[in-house]
Amino acid sequence: MEPSTEELVSSATRPVDWEDFREHLATADKEGRRRWLYPKRPSGRWYRWRTWMSWALIAVLFVGPFIRIQGHPLLMLNIVDRKFSILGQMFWPEDTILFAVAMLTFFAGIMIFTTAFGRLWCGWTCPQTVMMEMVFRKLEYLIEGDAAAQRTLDAAPCTAGKIARKVLKHGVFLGLSFLIGNTLLSYIIGTEALSEIITDDPRRHGVGLGFMIAFTLLFYGIFARFREQACTSSAPTDRFQSALLDENSLVVAYDHQRGENRGPWRRDQDLAARKADGRGDCVDCRQCVAVCPTGIDIRNGIQMECVHCTACVDACDGVMDKLGRPRGLIRYASLDGIEKGLPLRFTARMKLYASILTGLVTLFLVLVFTRADVETMFLRAPGGLFQTLPDGRISNLYTVKVLNKSHRDLPIEFRLEGSEGVVRTLGASEFVVPHEQLRQASVLVELDRVHMTGHMTALRVGVYSGGKRLETVKTSFIGPR
Ligand code: SF4
Ligand code: SF4
Repeated sequence: MEPSTEELVSSATRPVDWEDFREHLATADKEGRRRWLYPKRPSGRWYRWRTWMSWALIAVLFVGPFIRIQGHPLLMLNIVDRKFSILGQMFWPEDTILFAVAMLTFFAGIMIFTTAFGRLWCGWTCPQTVMMEMVFRKLEYLIEGDAAAQRTLDAAPCTAGKIARKVLKHGVFLGLSFLIGNTLLSYIIGTEALSEIITDDPRRHGVGLGFMIAFTLLFYGIFARFREQACTSSAPTDRFQSALLDENSLVVAYDHQRGENRGPWRRDQDLAARKADGRGDCVDCRQCVAVCPTGIDIRNGIQMECVHCTACVDACDGVMDKLGRPRGLIRYASLDGIEKGLPLRFTARMKLYASILTGLVTLFLVLVFTRADVETMFLRAPGGLFQTLPDGRISNLYTVKVLNKSHRDLPIEFRLEGSEGVVRTLGASEFVVPHEQLRQASVLVELDRVHMTGHMTALRVGVYSGGKRLETVKTSFIGPR
């Protein structure tokens, strides 16, 4: 039966049940203000592995802009000059199909990855998590101490010692944010342009310096204040993960079968007595909650805020070690693995996503490795109709733009394909398009009237370099009616 209007109004206005995790944000208090989190410093094998992984990723992140493949950056997304380099391959906005396929591949990749492995990306490789947990958080522990010490420091009156620590911390954060901001800038405009901004007269680089300051403040804001909010309210992954995860997805999960009924372990109680009491392995110590950087309790089940950072796995393993119980009360598992003891399966949905992804990757690679070295636009000159030459032939003037996508300069010539006629490139004797540049030329096409098919004749023009046809473009030729 449909609820009545009164029931709907009363359910919408009833007080929040603060005991129910679904009814409030983990990071908001009863007044709706942000609850500042003080996650305890994690330790354990997963944290150690994540640290190693993070160092490798941070090294790649900072060294990346300096790596060149065939003279091109490993990754450069120069939206200012509209030039892009991925794995040393240059792309231009004209490569629209390639971009569309690349975007589809990227999103299909995220979908299949999330379906199979949950938010493994968020916990292990996302730059936000890596920088926050492995750099900024560690520096914070170093300067202000662990969670309890940070709480005490924040609650303490303003003394010289407190001010010194805060100034030191925020100074270091600001310096690091400057470094990260400049790294991002070098991925956008390239290291050469960045070093020019740094070394040249600042008056000539107002926009570049503006971006430098904006990026620095942005990253400082994210890592000093915004923190977990970036993951829980701005990251796209948490929005669609609920639609992608199913009972077979690998997630960081609490084994409620083994852990419940939770309750403290009394000193006088042995395992048999605890089991006889109907107690599970969870001793309700809340260590898993204390280390969580997003402030949630994993024992409530899979939640949008969980970034799968494994801090709770380490915390709980530490507790189990002390109690002499097997590790893995919180672990990587699927829901079916926990509830039915089933192993991880490659489901039909995963297979479908994987085949789509394979198809897209194949298409992308084919497009990249078969794309022409040049991209040509062959357009009739604006406002131009036709001219009748003294010998009776007809000529049309064209504006031709040639984009050279290759790594070498290309001397270009044009030939009519399937039509008799003459093509002349006006200006210099040779039309050379430098590598990775766009050049424009005026081209005259002359046709005998007998080769025309009426007022408008369709033409195909071959674009040649060194006698080799690079591509064929279509255009039209106008003559008298
Ligand atoms: S750390 Fe383990 S034992 Fe402690 S509350 Fe969390 S799940 Fe229970
Ligand atoms: S619940 Fe565990 S895995 Fe998820 S964010 Fe918190 S600590 Fe990390």
